[in-house]
Amino acid sequence: MYAFNYHRPDSLEAAIGLLRTCEDGLFLAGGQTLLQSLRQRLAQPSDLIDLGALPELSGIRREGDQLVIGAMTRHAEVAASDLVRQSIPALAALAAGIGDAQVRNMGTLGGSIANNDPAADYPAGVLGLGATVVTSERELAADEFFTGMFETALEPGELIREVRFPIPRRAGYVKFAQPASRYALVGVMVAESAAGVRVAVTGAGPCVFRVPAMEQALAQDFQPQALDGIEVPADELNDDLHASAEYRAHLVGVLARRAVKAALAGL
Ligand SMILES: Cc1cc2nc3c(=O)[nH]c(=O)nc-3n(C[C@H](O)[C@H](O)[C@H](O)COP(=O)(O)OP(=O)(O)OC[C@H]3O[C@@H](n4cnc5c(N)ncnc54)[C@H](O)[C@@H]3O)c2cc1C
Repeated sequence: MYAFNYHRPDSLEAAIGLLRTCEDGLFLAGGQTLLQSLRQRLAQPSDLIDLGALPELSGIRREGDQLVIGAMTRHAEVAASDLVRQSIPALAALAAGIGDAQVRNMGTLGGSIANNDPAADYPAGVLGLGATVVTSERELAADEFFTGMFETALEPGELIREVRFPIPRRAGYVKFAQPASRYALVGVMVAESAAGVRVAVTGAGPCVFRVPAMEQALAQDFQPQALDGIEVPADELNDDLHASAEYRAHLVGVLARRAVKAALAGL
């Protein structure tokens, strides 16, 4: 690990100000990705700005037809929240399936989506539910937030404050977990709301993506069999030691059907 300066500001303004003034700083959330990168000397920030003393970044609340979750809210809190379980059970199930207990107790929603690992679960939840990412500067629709492998629309120094999830009529999330890490080999979120149907896939490609053909079919008939005959081309999918691109393409279809079943069952 390279040397760095450590800060633990007690206000949002101080955190944002610190990042602006230091040479090459990074925000620190639960450290589940960032500390590994530092240990392996894959990152060399001049300063780490710990967001752990900012209670305004944590918590879960309902505002009208939206569920609002603070960026520093841990996966375990989302999984255990009665509010999440009642309003978007699929999101509670998604959080409950992340990593192991230690990762869920430390990892955060904001850290997960800022990192945008191609196999992370939350990007599918945020994109599939059509959420809005609220930052220190602006509001970003999920469709514009995730821009590529480990890339997002965040500008340097921009801080995620919270994510606003519209509460769907029904939604389901199912993943096929990579057995060692529990990351998604493929994960599919399907959500139906008054605005239509959204299908978001993580793990299969370099970045989370939607499947318009599935969305159109499910908008006509929200049943697993509506997806019969719809295939996702393997051409641009991930192909690695864990699974071939063809295997992942097949899994997208299988898991999308299971996600529809989960949505119908209210799981
Ligand atoms: C063993 C293991 C297994 C895992 N399994 C899974 C899994 O099954 N599914 C899954 O989805 N994930 C999994 N993860 C990832 C985990 O869920 C964390 O959410 C992820 O590692 C990010 O960690 P963090 O929230 O602690 O953020 P950090 O590691 O602290 O930060 C990550 C990045 O986000 C930036 N950042 C953090 N917060 C903000 C913010 N509010 N605004 C702007 N930028 C910010 C940081 O600067 C940094 O660049 C796993 C991780 C580990 C170590």
